Amino acid sequence: MLLVDDIRKKLIAQRRELFREVAKTEEDLRWLQSDIESEVEERGQEETIVRLLDRLDGREKAEIEAIDRALFKLGSEQYGRCEQCGKAIPQSRLDVVPAAAMCMVCEQAGETQAALRK
Ligand SMILES: [Zn+2]
Repeated sequence: MLLVDDIRKKLIAQRRELFREVAKTEEDLRWLQSDIESEVEERGQEETIVRLLDRLDGREKAEIEAIDRALFKLGSEQYGRCEQCGKAIPQSRLDVVPAAAMCMVCEQAGETQAALRK
């Protein structure tokens, strides 16, 4: 049984952690300390998000995107399903990587293919 609220909090905390590393100004830090639940929806904060996103490297940006996608899917049947094979992602994996979009098998297959293309 997936606890949607717990997962959402975990995802938002991970997202916040990524942004914290590039937060420099007082305004950025204030935004990070703002209410954890309203953070995602409030539109006035978009400027800050865009500025912080700009400072993230490619890997960090990909992580934020994965987290945002997981937040979007959360609460629907899509969350916790592998985007590749459609099978349920094991709970043990979601506990460690709540933003996981693929099961272990598909992710490793993807990594192997990417490595072969290089
Ligand atoms: Zn899969």
